[in-house]
Amino acid sequence: MDRVYYCIDCKRVIANDKVCDYCKGEDLKQLTIKAPVNVIGTKIKGKVLKIKAGKVNILTRNEANEKVIKEYELEQLKKLL
Ligand SMILES: [Zn+2]
Repeated sequence: MDRVYYCIDCKRVIANDKVCDYCKGEDLKQLTIKAPVNVIGTKIKGKVLKIKAGKVNILTRNEANEKVIKEYELEQLKKLL
């Protein structure tokens, strides 16, 4: 299981564990399994299912409310509260 982090300030998901790539914030937390995330620029929301090789599998639902698993790059994701 690979570790990825998110920034407390801007909520972006990053591989860096020292400083945020986007806002340079230093308040980072590990992104854990089942954490709620949003795919930036979309209305897609889901939960972290698996983190591997710099990609995150998200469990989400499609228009028919069926469960769907999709893989996203870290840059596409934002942590939800
Ligand atoms: Zn940030």
